[in-house]
Amino acid sequence: MTQIEPIHIIGGGMAGSEAAWQAASMGVPVILHEMRPVRGTDAHKTDGLAEMVCSNSFRSDDHETNAVGLLHWEMRQAGGLIMEMGDRHSLPAGGALAVDRDLFSADVTARLEAHPLIEIDRGEVAGIPPADWSSVIVATGPLTSPALAESVRGLTGEDGLAFFDAIAPIVYFDSVDLSKAWFQSRYDKGETEEERTAYLNCPMDREQYEGFIDALLAAEKTEFKEWEGTPYFEACLPIEVMAERGRETLRWGPLKPVGLTNPHDPTVKAHAVVQLRRDNALGTLYNIVGFQTKMKYGAQAEVFKRIPGLEGARFARLGGIHRNTFLNSPKVLDGEMRLKAEPRLRFAGQVTGVEGYVESAAMGLLAGRLAAAERLGAPLASPPATTAIGALLNHITGGAEAATFQPMNVNFGLFPPLDLGIKGGRKRKRDRARAYSERAKQDWLGWLGKDAEAAA
Ligand SMILES: Cc1cc2nc3c(=O)[nH]c(=O)nc-3n(C[C@H](O)[C@H](O)[C@H](O)COP(=O)(O)OP(=O)(O)OC[C@H]3O[C@@H](n4cnc5c(N)ncnc54)[C@H](O)[C@@H]3O)c2cc1C
Repeated sequence: MTQIEPIHIIGGGMAGSEAAWQAASMGVPVILHEMRPVRGTDAHKTDGLAEMVCSNSFRSDDHETNAVGLLHWEMRQAGGLIMEMGDRHSLPAGGALAVDRDLFSADVTARLEAHPLIEIDRGEVAGIPPADWSSVIVATGPLTSPALAESVRGLTGEDGLAFFDAIAPIVYFDSVDLSKAWFQSRYDKGETEEERTAYLNCPMDREQYEGFIDALLAAEKTEFKEWEGTPYFEACLPIEVMAERGRETLRWGPLKPVGLTNPHDPTVKAHAVVQLRRDNALGTLYNIVGFQTKMKYGAQAEVFKRIPGLEGARFARLGGIHRNTFLNSPKVLDGEMRLKAEPRLRFAGQVTGVEGYVESAAMGLLAGRLAAAERLGAPLASPPATTAIGALLNHITGGAEAATFQPMNVNFGLFPPLDLGIKGGRKRKRDRARAYSERAKQDWLGWLGKDAEAAA
């Protein structure tokens, strides 16, 4: 019998652990490289595989009307190790799946160590893997070691790998002063009245704009220690970094005043306009467009309240920038998560631009199966975009805009629409979610080659 060459998996977190389990379960040997405890990260505290670095929740377990619950279901149907261990070590948490993180990680580690086809190598892979690793899954997560990240960047180009994700502040609608702000989309764009009035606009005259720029430049910023100097995607530069590039930069960027008329003062052209975009279906929250920032929280509230209309603003969330190494996947990965520039390297987990433990494990499950099938000489087609795993894959490898790509949780907005003639209302929303879930389950079982009765 010819020996099957191993798949090398780099990173033994949520994605790498699941990928190793899936590939080995298909009969393909795996060498799993995990750098801890030889080298640590800023968030991990143990040397266990699949360590949950912050919360201990896999979120909703409702597989009938919740997209993350549906992801749980799909992973269970595929014999996922992360879900099996999550279920085994679950804690009471209402409709959510909370997990005893220590028992969970210890059990994942023990199962992988005990598998005859899995070898665990504790050490950092500090650069592009050697040429004789002909099938590799990179699952090194949001805190990918700097040496590996730099090498990957050498392959993807400057805008192919980001080191941060950026969040703009969110304001409560009822705290915006509508005697100053007004609803209008730029150039009144949109098919419906709702689209034509999708933004709230806050006008600035020259003096207000200049004062705002001074305040931005002077505000206290969060220190980034060793990450200082690492690059951003151009599409999500912090607002103060844009201001540092020149006092007029913002007026040509997110604060450009064109295509907007202030109904409170129609004859006066604003010097600059801050736009807020609706952030939830209820219309109770608005995010300030382009205002991702690394100003300290106190400074943010002070600076943003200088914006006319936001003097009394209450913030549901302040802006922030977090360490998160992730690929511009829509640009650099093919439809099966392989790096276009070097297809022997497949990526999985949070580094592909999904967000969360469950989403990361799901991408590991898929990468493990795709790589193993390829190794066995019988490549698999990607799962349909109507499934939760397929919808995530479709989003990161093509559905999302490369220019503004930011990490994404699973949600029904990523699924191809189903025309059910259902509109509006809470109950209707649940009916719609149920229909999406039913379609997903059927299609997922089809992809797995399982029959529905056996799976029930
Ligand atoms: C501070 C912080 C808090 C978070 N909180 C939450 C939360 O509450 N809920 C949630 O759902 N998600 C949270 N996340 C996101 C979370 O990291 C992911 O959801 C999930 O852990 C990602 O899984 P992963 O397998 O892609 O990466 P990880 O689980 O991080 O696994 C990557 C592994 O790769 C290893 N590694 C890195 N570089 C190398 C290398 N060069 N060679 C060998 N090994 C390497 C690391 O040691 C690590 O074990 C948080 C992330 C951070 C950074």
